[in-house]
Amino acid sequence: MSEEMNEEKFDVIVVGAGLAGNTAAYLLAQAGLEVLVIERGEQPGAKNVTGGRLYSHSLERIFPNFAQEAPVERKITKERISFMTGTGATTVEYAADKLGEQGKATYSILRSRFDPWLAGKAEDAGAMYITGIRVDQVLTKDGKVCGVKAGEEEMLADVVLLADGVNSLLSQQLGMKKELDPSQVAVGIKEVIELGEETINDRFGTAPGEGVAWLFAGDTTGGNIGGGFLYTNKDCLSLGIVTTVGDVGHSDVAPRDMVERLKAHPVVRPLIQNGKLVEYSAHLVTEGGYNMIPELYRDGVLVAGDAAALVMNMGYTIRGMDLCIESGRLAAETIIAARKAGDFSKNFLSRYETALNNSFVMADLKHYRKMPAFIENHRIFEQYPGMMDELMSGLFMMYGQKPEKLMKKGMSAVKKVGMINMMKDVTKGLGAI
Ligand SMILES: Cc1cc2nc3c(=O)[nH]c(=O)nc-3n(C[C@H](O)[C@H](O)[C@H](O)COP(=O)(O)OP(=O)(O)OC[C@H]3O[C@@H](n4cnc5c(N)ncnc54)[C@H](O)[C@@H]3O)c2cc1C
Repeated sequence: MSEEMNEEKFDVIVVGAGLAGNTAAYLLAQAGLEVLVIERGEQPGAKNVTGGRLYSHSLERIFPNFAQEAPVERKITKERISFMTGTGATTVEYAADKLGEQGKATYSILRSRFDPWLAGKAEDAGAMYITGIRVDQVLTKDGKVCGVKAGEEEMLADVVLLADGVNSLLSQQLGMKKELDPSQVAVGIKEVIELGEETINDRFGTAPGEGVAWLFAGDTTGGNIGGGFLYTNKDCLSLGIVTTVGDVGHSDVAPRDMVERLKAHPVVRPLIQNGKLVEYSAHLVTEGGYNMIPELYRDGVLVAGDAAALVMNMGYTIRGMDLCIESGRLAAETIIAARKAGDFSKNFLSRYETALNNSFVMADLKHYRKMPAFIENHRIFEQYPGMMDELMSGLFMMYGQKPEKLMKKGMSAVKKVGMINMMKDVTKGLGAI
């Protein structure tokens, strides 16, 4: 720490204006603390990528009925999962009124629209934002974190909250988190395709304001671990893939080609016809779940959101936003209590971990901790979609062919995977969820 440090001191500096950082900034400012948020993107939401579905419960707790005011895209009322071969797909749809119930609803969102809204709430509450500047270093004095350095500028605070996302270089710098291992990280590639509101309603059979969440397993990733996703937004679609980085060598399909493969698939192609590509992004996703959680606190510092690996890759969906929001809330509550006590020591800040342990965040991460190991199974992405295709074509295709018992057709499809393998996978799968 340099001698000529700028003497202005904040109560809290939050690094990163994603959902974790903005939530914390809002609650801290509302409690009367002086908060500075530093974001390297030109504005909140500029650098943030999500597939698109927000499980609303944790934000609802802070802003009841937020969806009436916030720029959410559509309430998800239909869930679809497709098991894809190169030419076909077996699709399961689940639709129910209860999917849209207050407090349980999920919404498609676009971060470029949603994050500025949340940051605006924090600013209205009194938080100060500096954007377009990257924090290069966390400052320490006598072993305690006491501020940050961005370019030549040094800024001081009682506590620094690191909400700097999946690749949190700052917590790595402090030795709180290990460098990401390729086997524990996935890459997501996403396109936003503009279609117009009415076209979306026609093509997806949705009422205005209601939407579809659609996941694709199998051919999309060329058998790689991962899958495709499609979320209907108000007037556009979010469409993309997520695949494990360590597995990219398994097939000869590169991640960016997986998106093209998804778009060219006979089930997807007509849905995006005449659409206009308006956004393209790529981002990392933590895959390791509970086993990857780093040190969450030290003297004068806390880590929240993706930076703390509070994300779940459940195979059929990725869930991180509700966990990030909750961790931002719990970090803020801890800091507010620390300020009252005038104690920013590691000992006091350990309350953050206790609060996380008592919340749904750790309960869910623990519950699904076997999921990352379970989905590292190529049969799920290669053989089962093919098996379903054979079963379905046997069931529905009549063209004057020699009759064959469905049981026989079914068994031939099952044999390709192997009965023992199937039993093992079902047992493991049930164990993981
Ligand atoms: C392809 C994909 C699909 C996903 N789908 C879903 C989904 O459907 N539902 C769901 O719940 N979750 C999903 N997730 C996960 C979810 O998006 C994340 O868990 C969530 O966005 C993390 O929020 P965060 O605030 O922790 O981090 P981020 O949103 O990544 O925010 C971190 C911020 O820190 C800033 N920053 C980083 N370093 C610095 C620095 N040194 N100085 C200043 N600023 C810095 C960044 O610019 C960024 O704005 C998906 C993720 C991906 C990539």
